[in-house]
Amino acid sequence: MTTPESSAPSDFIRNIINEDLKNNKYEGRVHTRFPPEPNGYLHIGHAKSICLNFGIAAQYGGLCNLRFDDTNPTKEEGEYVESIKEDVRWLGFDWEDRLFYASDYFDRMYDYAVQLIKAGKAYVDDLSADGIREYRGTLIDPGKESPYRSRPVEENLDLFQRMRAGEFEDGSRVLRAKIDMTSPNLNLRDPAMYRILHAEHHRTGNKWCIYPMYDWAHGLEDSIEGITHSICTLEFEDHRPLYDWFLDQLGVYHPQQIEFARLNLTYTVLSKRKLLQLVEQGYVSGWDDPRMLTISGLRRRGYTPESIQSFCERVGVAKTDSTIDIALLEYCIREDLNKRSPRVMAVLRPLRVVIDNYPQDQTEEVDAVNNPEDPGMGTRKVPFSRVLYIEQEDFREHPPEKFFRLAPGREVRLRYGYLITCVDVVKDEQTGEAVELHCTYDPETRGGTAPDGRKVKGTIHWVSAAHAHQAEVRLYDRLFTAENPGDVRSGADFESVLNPDSLETLTGYIEPSLVGAAPGSRYQFERLGYFCVDSKDSSPERMVFNRTVTLRDSWAKIEKRL
Ligand code: ATP
Ligand code: MG
Repeated sequence: MTTPESSAPSDFIRNIINEDLKNNKYEGRVHTRFPPEPNGYLHIGHAKSICLNFGIAAQYGGLCNLRFDDTNPTKEEGEYVESIKEDVRWLGFDWEDRLFYASDYFDRMYDYAVQLIKAGKAYVDDLSADGIREYRGTLIDPGKESPYRSRPVEENLDLFQRMRAGEFEDGSRVLRAKIDMTSPNLNLRDPAMYRILHAEHHRTGNKWCIYPMYDWAHGLEDSIEGITHSICTLEFEDHRPLYDWFLDQLGVYHPQQIEFARLNLTYTVLSKRKLLQLVEQGYVSGWDDPRMLTISGLRRRGYTPESIQSFCERVGVAKTDSTIDIALLEYCIREDLNKRSPRVMAVLRPLRVVIDNYPQDQTEEVDAVNNPEDPGMGTRKVPFSRVLYIEQEDFREHPPEKFFRLAPGREVRLRYGYLITCVDVVKDEQTGEAVELHCTYDPETRGGTAPDGRKVKGTIHWVSAAHAHQAEVRLYDRLFTAENPGDVRSGADFESVLNPDSLETLTGYIEPSLVGAAPGSRYQFERLGYFCVDSKDSSPERMVFNRTVTLRDSWAKIEKRL
């Protein structure tokens, strides 16, 4: 037995927080934030960060802010802001009244920059971008000081003010921190704080023509909001000394930055730039294409918030980079859907079956169990009649060994129905393919068992042809065939790693109880997999189902090997 306390996740970040709480480091406060840049939709990697930051706040009775890191005006759009809010909420988290925008701090950041200039810690540089790069040095060679580095404070103040006033062209000057051009950490070699950019911002409009650089802005945002533990991914480890330097020079509140390994997944790209290319180049239907590992794509695919949370918890947080097998994510959604989704019958590749000895005009209703995992979900009635559809692959004219389904002369169980025996096969004259089967049923076997106790190995699903409805069924598979498609450098190379069979669209037949099912609702199609009603394209007149995942579990096997 585990108590709720002991089942709470534990990791190196929580150990740091425990220690801080013990030492009363932030007067017992725990305040985190999730800081997306609104330049794309959120993906499963962001979900890891969301679950971590909001999860920690919840666990310690603390707070977590949602903050849009909107310092770059050229790539950001309101559409992204809305989608991010929707996704965080859908994942089950609440920022209450703490929704912030970095752009709301632009005035304060400007004042802080003036403070640094006055302290002789920042200067306006007239070097071109190339010049700055040249002077920067390399990992082996120290950098050189810019000829503009020793400008007097008054001149810097004047130039910076005129940068803001719009007197200069884009790229003609930057404001730089005056730190150390010989530092072994390149981030400390007088990093840029402001650039000139005459661009409209989605929130501040044309108020600004200088914009703060990420490295200057990010630490300030955390400081302004009183964040205690600023959790970010490993690539910012080398930037931490710079954030520390800025905050120390300004003498302002100082959060603690903690870095963890970002989530990488096999058969997946998780860079917004590459996801955007997939969308823009038309390889997918949009950010919410069910093959995309964006939150909106996963939602449309049929994933539940709980399955994503459970995945993130299982993955945990670590200090070193690794790649998680996507089979683990698929395992998590199967596990969740197995518990909660009703079973129904649908036939995706129909083969007509006529039961010769079943009365022509008769229909009866058989009882079907909604979820064997959860008797509380009850039963439903499924219509049965003389003409049915079964799955083409459940019949073989010449059955191989261990094929226990239907074949000439063979008896099989119709799930919740009767035992039927195949007596004749009608074939297409041209192709020789079976197009219709004739069977007889045993009226004594309603429910699927024979009173004489004879054994029937195979059980197949079916729908009644007269009662079933046509539906569009989209069979989704992994978008990439390469285990590590992220190695592909540009969108032009996607072709070589994309799975040409990632989407197959069929017209199948669904049992009548499914007609009108709410968009987004999830089912197990017996023996076929988990499916959900497409939230965009489905209507009661034309139901559309997305396959979330097959029933086949490859993770159990992988886990055994580990
Ligand atoms: P991308 O590299 O996909 O463009 P990003 O890091 O630029 O992502 P942001 O919008 O800046 O995207 O990310 C917001 C937060 O989500 C950051 O704190 C970032 O560390 C975190 N994050 C982004 N990708 C991952 C990932 N793969 N695993 C864990 N956290 C991530
Ligand atoms: Mg980023």
